[in-house]
Amino acid sequence: MEKIFGNIINGIEETGGERIELKSPVDGSLIGYIIDTDKDTVERAIQSSRAAFNKFYPMSTIKSRQELIGKLADIVQEKATIYADLESKNTGKTIRQSTFMDIPLAISHIRYFAETDEFKFQRKITHPEYPGTEGIVQNAPMGVVASIAPWNVPFLMAVWKIIPPVLAGNAVVIKPSHYTPLTAIELVKDMKAAGFPDGLVNLVNGTGRTTGNFLVNSDHVDMVSFTGSTPTGSRIMEQAAKNITKVSLELGGKSPNIVFADADLDHAVKGVIFGIFLNAGQLCESASRLIIEESIMDKFLQKVKIYLDSMKSGNPMDFETDISAITTKEQKEKIESLISQTVKSGGNIFYSKNMQGTPDNGTYFPPTLLTGLTPGQQISDEEIFGPVLTVYPFKSEKEAIDLANSTKYGLAAGIWTKDIEKAGRVASMIEAGTVWVNEYHLLSAAAPRGGFKKSGIGRELGLEGILEYTQTRHIFYGNNESGMSDVAYGILIKTE
Ligand code: NAD
Repeated sequence: MEKIFGNIINGIEETGGERIELKSPVDGSLIGYIIDTDKDTVERAIQSSRAAFNKFYPMSTIKSRQELIGKLADIVQEKATIYADLESKNTGKTIRQSTFMDIPLAISHIRYFAETDEFKFQRKITHPEYPGTEGIVQNAPMGVVASIAPWNVPFLMAVWKIIPPVLAGNAVVIKPSHYTPLTAIELVKDMKAAGFPDGLVNLVNGTGRTTGNFLVNSDHVDMVSFTGSTPTGSRIMEQAAKNITKVSLELGGKSPNIVFADADLDHAVKGVIFGIFLNAGQLCESASRLIIEESIMDKFLQKVKIYLDSMKSGNPMDFETDISAITTKEQKEKIESLISQTVKSGGNIFYSKNMQGTPDNGTYFPPTLLTGLTPGQQISDEEIFGPVLTVYPFKSEKEAIDLANSTKYGLAAGIWTKDIEKAGRVASMIEAGTVWVNEYHLLSAAAPRGGFKKSGIGRELGLEGILEYTQTRHIFYGNNESGMSDVAYGILIKTE
């Protein structure tokens, strides 16, 4: 029987409308269909969220919203293996990664927002210009947030795009990627089970060209929270300008991993491999550029090669497999085209892994190392979003920093050295929203993340990430006793 994964609007799953096929990158099998949501339905979802916001927000508190978020964490925890299975089938990421990283990390992030006491709805101030008066500064919700998510880490992204705005008091209409919507749909269903009011979070499926576009161009959303590529983010910012809609943009990256000669090389090599080959390089902060001190380059690359040889290719649904599939055919073609252009322009394939054991009809690309490159080449500047590591040697600290900062992106970076003073000095010069020292990819819900330069605007996670979904209101309480009003009004109304 055909399986249709519907939209969730006002607590009801709706399966009518144009359909889009959903195929697994693991083996090309048909998973089912989703709806390519039309404009009227998108507007209906927005109206439903607006009504739920108007009804629910005034009678809720941070604490009552956190209680619901906590219940949701319990439900998702119970179903963790179901979520992991869905996530891996839909994205092609290894079942080991879904089971031990993506799903537990997302659950811990839901719990963080259920428990954090950092977010305060308001604070008291005094006004130094007007002695005796007081004010309240409130962090009011935006209203209805349109959340648009990418295909690479769908469950974690759904959590980031739904939970912080809801904690801040908003309603949400979320559009997952039309390639990987399954765990987001499951999450919104589980929100009903946790007791969230119907309509507070609605989910509409579809492509960016259709559903995403209708959401961003609606006159009735108060904010667009977008995670995806830099070109799409730029288009969304342009479209949002029409209605002066606030945007937060979490965009692409071209992150460097800088390895100094004094690093613990065995640790660094694991960090470099993890930095680029986790999720087959399809992570926004994937450390796709290895910037390595020239004196250790040959020795280090040999170590990388040995580790890559030991990684197991195969069916990602098998717990032994180390290498994820490429989630979409389009993405695989993009990677292939970038590599062949690089080779034509003189780049050298230093290593390409044999991908034996992968299922037929799946979408796979071998972990690859490219050398002989310079900054400014397309492969050095553009986000590859695949399991491809490009290598650049450096001689001095300044050269390492210049190379790290040589792209238009600024999302993340890694620094590998035993000299912590040097690490701090270099980290402060890196144009990036996150810098890991002797680590990579470790995400904390307590820490704001986001991009410098063309990697985005705004922050996700941490207190900054919650405040992103608020607007500030200042209430000024006058004080008749202070006489300040008489002094001020005297400019216009002369009194005795
Ligand atoms: P994408 O930009 O193609 O699409 C992202 C989302 O936007 C999808 O849901 C898509 O349907 C929608 N969309 C596309 N065009 C639209 C339009 N005109 N109007 C409204 N919505 C539209 O990105 P992708 O290929 O799904 O994801 C990969 C990209 O996401 C990479 O560049 C990656 O670096 C980035 N990413 C960034 C972060 C971060 O936190 N900075 C996290 C994950 C992924």
